[in-house]
Amino acid sequence: MKKALILLLFITTTSSFAQKSMVNNDDPTEFMNTITADKLKTKLYIVASDEMEGRETGSKGQKKAGNYLIDQYKKSKISYPKGATSYYQPIPAAFLNAKRNENLPDSENIWAYIEGSEKPDEVLVISAHYDHVGIKNGEIYNGADDDGSGTVAILQIAEAFQKAKKAGHGPKRSILFLHVTGEEHGLHGSRFYSQNPLFPIANTIADINIDMIGRRDVEHANSNNYVYVIGADRLSSDLHNITVAQNDKYTKLDLDFKFNDPKDPNHFYERSDHYNFAKFGIPAVFLFNGVHEDYHGKGDEPEKIEYDALAKRTQLAFVIAWDLVNRPERIVVDKPIK
Ligand SMILES: [Zn+2]
Repeated sequence: MKKALILLLFITTTSSFAQKSMVNNDDPTEFMNTITADKLKTKLYIVASDEMEGRETGSKGQKKAGNYLIDQYKKSKISYPKGATSYYQPIPAAFLNAKRNENLPDSENIWAYIEGSEKPDEVLVISAHYDHVGIKNGEIYNGADDDGSGTVAILQIAEAFQKAKKAGHGPKRSILFLHVTGEEHGLHGSRFYSQNPLFPIANTIADINIDMIGRRDVEHANSNNYVYVIGADRLSSDLHNITVAQNDKYTKLDLDFKFNDPKDPNHFYERSDHYNFAKFGIPAVFLFNGVHEDYHGKGDEPEKIEYDALAKRTQLAFVIAWDLVNRPERIVVDKPIK
């Protein structure tokens, strides 16, 4: 009786050990698969609902959207960053209005954080703007793609990393989830962060910026299985190679580098929040679906989002992040700032 019990105990212990070690710390698949179209859809219908009044910078609606983001982080038990006193990085109106002589009220970036287990001082930033253009002529501009899509993508990526952490596979480096404000008025939130960084710029290993990943443009009318990759190779050949390799391995999207051409007249590289990181020498990759008929229009609604594409592109951002925070050596910066 006793012997059998000991044997049984031995079997259970070894088998649970075997099970645990089967999950390779280098393999993000299990956690990547927690990022689903359904979860993103549920969140986006809230972030891009009329209740948020188009999320104009500093407005009541934007603050409501911000509260929703914070509630989600609290639910997932993801705290605000070490060194901060809340989920907010307040930005005074004077800063927001200095450049374009506008009349915006105070606003705030929202941040959350998962600390790295081995190199906590090295930080990856994942950014997306949560402001949009508000209400015009009585119509609410809900900005589901711009940038509700990036906003909910960050929430889902954070949840996936938190699940990995709970399962004993937390990131080795730290991750700052940064929802920036004032993008539509001139990339203000990211500019404020880069000038007032919570973690030293020198310790910031990269920025993954997500701005519009839920729709398709006319160039890809036949398939939504693509994403534009912009900026990855400008400062770091590692960042480019990691983006390509992780996509080949896990998401198999058609990576379109058309807008990465420095001579492209759209200059998207300079037009979203990652640019404020790149300016300081931080390697940045921008994921983007291109523009469409509802860009900055009242038709940018959650009903028009292609949730399968949103999920895949979010998964790509997640697996790039996974590699960046878990690789033994920090990625190199081997090209000059231009
Ligand atoms: Zn945008």
